[in-house]
This record gives sequence, C-alpha cells and structure tokens, in this order.
Amino acid sequence: MDALIVLAHPEPQSYTAALARTAAEALAADGWNVVLDDLAAEGFRPDAGWHDVLEEPSGPLQVMAAQGRAAAGGGFAPDVAREIGRLQACDLLITAFPLWWFGPPALLKGWFDRVLANGVGYSDHPFTEGPLKGRRALAIVTTAGDEAGYYGPEGRAGDLRALLNPVLHGTFAYCAFDVLDPYVVYEADGPDDAVRERGLADLRTRLQGIGTEAPIATRPLRAQ
Ligand SMILES: Cc1cc2nc3c(=O)[nH]c(=O)nc-3n(C[C@H](O)[C@H](O)[C@H](O)COP(=O)(O)OP(=O)(O)OC[C@H]3O[C@@H](n4cnc5c(N)ncnc54)[C@H](O)[C@@H]3O)c2cc1C
Repeated sequence: MDALIVLAHPEPQSYTAALARTAAEALAADGWNVVLDDLAAEGFRPDAGWHDVLEEPSGPLQVMAAQGRAAAGGGFAPDVAREIGRLQACDLLITAFPLWWFGPPALLKGWFDRVLANGVGYSDHPFTEGPLKGRRALAIVTTAGDEAGYYGPEGRAGDLRALLNPVLHGTFAYCAFDVLDPYVVYEADGPDDAVRERGLADLRTRLQGIGTEAPIATRPLRAQ
C-alpha cells in the first residue's frame, strides 16, 4: 500500500511538520510505501496558470479547459506532473496543515487547484465517480483554538468539522475519495507540551488501522 503525505507548512521545524514526519514513520513501520511531500521545501507554487500545462498560451486562459486538454494528452508542466504522479500512485492521501483563516494555507489550496485537475482529480460525475475513486483521504490539522471553548457547540468559531467542509466534502468527497475522520490537534502552539506529545502519540495509534478504518459521511452545507 502506498501513502502520499502532503505537508503544507512553511517551516520544517513546525509542529505540523513533526506530525507529518510521525505519520510517515508510523506508516512505514506498518509496511506502507510512503512519500512525504513537503510542498514548501519543494518550492511548489500555489497559483494556477498557463504555467501548469505544456500547451502554449492561446487566448484567455480557461483553467478547467486547459487542465482537461493536458489530462487528455497535452501534458502538464513538470511540477504538476510530478505531483499528479505521486497522487495517482497512492492508496492513501494525507494532507497535514495548520488551520489558517478557517481553512488550509494557500500552499495546500494551490495544490488542490493545480493537482486535483480536471480529468485527474475529478470527471463528469463528482462525488460518486472519478479517477481517484476508492482511495482514502485523511486531513491532519493543527489549530490554535481550543476544542471546547472555541470549536465547541457554543464556541465563537463553530464546529471544526463544518469549517473543514470545503476540504472534506468540497474537495475529498468531490473527488470520490473515501473520506476519513480528520485528525486534529487543538491548541497545537499553546503552552502545554503534553498536548503536543499526546498529539504525536495518538496519531501513531490512529494510523495503525488507517487502511481499514470506516470512512465518514460528508454532506453539503446548508444555510441556517
Ligand atoms: C495566517 C494564520 C491564520 C490562522 N488562522 C487560524 C484559525 O482560523 N483558527 C485557529 O485555530 N488558528 C489559526 N491560526 C493559528 C494556527 O492554526 C496555529 O498557529 C498552528 O496550527 C500551530 O501549528 P504549527 O505547526 O504552526 O505550530 P508551531 O508554532 O510550529 O509549533 C508549536 C510548538 O510545537 C513545538 N514543536 C515542534 N516540533 C515538535 C515536536 N516534534 N514535539 C513537540 N513539540 C514540537 C514548536 O517548537 C513550538 O513550540 C492561524 C495562524 C496563521 C499564521
């Protein structure tokens, strides 16, 4: 089994990076082939454009159309093609990121935009069919806010699962991944070292069954 861990944090010594490395070690110890994909270290650019495809620019850029032509044989630029190759080789996709402004950092959003391309990440039947169907996807997320007060039922921020809906439902489920319950370390940069130690240890335990863990149901957000 192959796992791709996409790390989206600018600092290699960050706690989020430590979680990604811990995941890589734990999975490798369980026999997985693991690629740890440190987007910042690789200099991955987050903005979509003509530079994503081999085709020469011709007229106004329509990103989905250009991606579709690239997927159909025109070819992707080397950085995108490398990421697509890693994606297509994996049975398990893990994205490790800090929550920034209630969502993933631009680096990961850009990876979604450029790599989960039309014809690569999704096709004509989103949510039910697609080239990635049957693969699993897990989000590892760090936050500054606490679980009970900030992200709890009466919290100022709101339910974290709902905040992550653009990733879990709008991206993973859209691409027909089997979506796994996100792994969250709240207060990851708080004063309590024990929180971080527990976060690393619990991740190791969680990953032991990740190949067979039951997916969660994701659903559309509705206005209240
Ligand atoms: C632009 C921006 C927007 C943000 N928006 C939000 C938001 O919407 N909601 C929210 O809740 N938070 C938000 N935050 C806060 C952010 O989510 C947290 O700062 C982040 O998740 C903490 O994770 P980190 O990896 O960056 O921690 P770091 O600051 O890198 O690390 C935290 C501590 O862990 C230590 N550490 C590193 N490695 C290890 C290890 N192996 N073992 C033990 N300790 C280790 C570090 O030395 C440090 O002391 C935002 C931050 C930014 C910059």
